[in-house]
Amino acid sequence: MEEVVFASNNAGKTREVAAVLAELGIRVVPQSEFNVTEAEETAPTFVENALIKARNACRQTGRPAIADDSGLEVDALNGAPGVYSARFAGPGATDAANNARLLEALADVPDERRTARYQCVLVYMRHAADPTPIIAQASWEGRILTAPRGSGGFGYDPLFWLPDRQQTVAELDLATKNRLSHRGQALQQLLAKLRPVVG
Ligand code: IMP
Repeated sequence: MEEVVFASNNAGKTREVAAVLAELGIRVVPQSEFNVTEAEETAPTFVENALIKARNACRQTGRPAIADDSGLEVDALNGAPGVYSARFAGPGATDAANNARLLEALADVPDERRTARYQCVLVYMRHAADPTPIIAQASWEGRILTAPRGSGGFGYDPLFWLPDRQQTVAELDLATKNRLSHRGQALQQLLAKLRPVVG
C-alpha cells in the first residue's frame, strides 16, 4: 500500500482525506507522525501555499505528500480575506473575531452584493523536486449573512448562507457538508486525477 504524507495537523481534515484516498489503496499519514516542522504560508495564492506545504513535507520525509489550502473570497472585498482567512482579525485570531471583522467590513454592503465563495486547492507531489504536481481546485458559492446562524462547522460557516438550501453551512450535518463543500469537491477531483497515476 502506498504511503502519502498529509501536510496538515488538522485531525478532521486528515480523516476526511484518508477515507477518500483509501479507495486507491493509499494510506494517508499526518505529517506530525514524521515530526515535520510546519512551513510558513507566505504566498499570495492558495495554490502556491499548498505547494509550499506539500514540498516542505516531501523534503522532510522523503515521501510523496498531499497538502491543501483554503479560504473565503468575498466579492465586495475584492476577494478578501482570501489567503488571510485564518488571520483576518490578526495573527492567531479566533473564529468569532474573524467573523466580527467580516461583518464590520460588510456593514454597508446590501444583500445582493454579499456574494462569496469558499475555495480549496489540493496538491499531490511525488517528491520535493516534482515539476508536475497534481492540482485539484473547487469552490462553493454562497452569501454572507448580517448575523450568525447555526453551531456546526468552523470558521466562517455561521455567516455563510447557501441560497439553494436556505441554510448556513453551520446548520448542515458533517456528512452533508463534506459532500457539498469546496474541500469535499476538490478531494473528489484529486481522487479522479490520481486514479490513473497510482490506481
Ligand atoms: P486552512 O486551509 O485550514 O488554513 O483554512 C484557512 C481558513 O479559511 C480557515 O481558518 C477558515 O477561516 C477558512 N475556511 C476554510 N475552509 C472553511 C470551511 O469549510 N468553513 C469555514 N471556514 C473555512
